[in-house]
Amino acid sequence: MSFLAKNYNRKKIAFSKGKGSFLFSVKGEKYLDFVQGIAVNSLGHSHPKLIKSLSNQSKKIWHVSNAFIIPEGEKLAKKIVQKTFADYVMFQNSGAEATEAAIKVARRYFYSIGKPNKNRILCIKNSFHGRTIAAIYASGSKKMTEGFGPKVNGFDHFNFGDHKSLKKLINKNTAAVMIETIMGEGGIKVIPDWCLKGLRKLCNKKKVLLILDEVQCGIGRSGDFFAFEKSKVKPDIVPIAKGIGGGFPIGAVLMNKKVASGMVAGTHGSTFGGNPLAMQIGNTVIDIISKKRFLNNVKKNSKYFINQLNKIKMIYPNIIKEIRGRGFLIGLQLYNDQTNFIKKLMDNKLLTIRAAENVVRILPPLNVKKSELDVALKIIKKVCSDY
Ligand SMILES: *Cc1c(COP(=O)(O)O)cnc(C)c1O
Repeated sequence: MSFLAKNYNRKKIAFSKGKGSFLFSVKGEKYLDFVQGIAVNSLGHSHPKLIKSLSNQSKKIWHVSNAFIIPEGEKLAKKIVQKTFADYVMFQNSGAEATEAAIKVARRYFYSIGKPNKNRILCIKNSFHGRTIAAIYASGSKKMTEGFGPKVNGFDHFNFGDHKSLKKLINKNTAAVMIETIMGEGGIKVIPDWCLKGLRKLCNKKKVLLILDEVQCGIGRSGDFFAFEKSKVKPDIVPIAKGIGGGFPIGAVLMNKKVASGMVAGTHGSTFGGNPLAMQIGNTVIDIISKKRFLNNVKKNSKYFINQLNKIKMIYPNIIKEIRGRGFLIGLQLYNDQTNFIKKLMDNKLLTIRAAENVVRILPPLNVKKSELDVALKIIKKVCSDY
């Protein structure tokens, strides 16, 4: 009997230990974990440097209020600012908090320049920005909002790829366009670089802010530190979360100087956000991921893996429709419902997770070994051949 609320459809398996790319079930079975907490454990399980960082910090100081200066957070913010478009960082605890804070930053900016009616946020229909009340209405998904009314106003939606309606829906009350650079839950749909470029131009022309939600695709997941970097586009606001804590809950909103000017003292706050324990771990994660060799390795291994997946697709063109994604944010789109395929992979000791549009989402740790990728390829091939 479980006393946990029934809001998750859990697989009947529990794990007691994790090491690198692997998880060990309470029954002692070994699984190749290509879920990694949904793109959270960017460095795999039990990374020695993260263990050391956590254990050292745990002996010093865990939590102080944001009423005081937190040096570990100052340090992490500086690192983020030095390597990205951002001029300022605001720490949170999760992705939904980060996307909601991003919305607050956008609205507050226009309020601060005397345009309080410029407050609507334009999003992609059936995107994913988190599960809090405003975030579900930002996502514009019927399933996620069902039963949670009244509707939170202030969001408009266009369909993925529908540039005409995107242009039409921007009006004088639009504060920002908010999209995921790569749609994760929505089925690993990459926004092409030329689209991002066009969108930036459009936002400039219409004097609208660009929010790129990199909660899932950021922090090296795409092979670049941010997925938008490849397009050379500079967003105004970027919420991040999943990968930055390597398994420890951290969220943040990155912003440029212009929009940060609205966030004066007292406009936003978080009790837990940016506490010393979280910040120390964030520093360790970013130090490792920021090494050029690290991301080059992600790109190289991802290229190999995606090439091999495409070869499998060619052998089984009636099962696999498309290989999608970038870096280690990969989707295997099937022709039919993916539930059984994911179960078969799991029976063969490979953990993956679903995304929309019949997609099997594959999220190895960023430091996965090539030999581990080969194990996964072998299992995927076997499941295809038995299918
Ligand atoms: C996971 C996710 C969120 C929400 O993050 P939580 O930590 O679950 O609140 C928001 N945006 C995107 C793109 C995500 O993938």
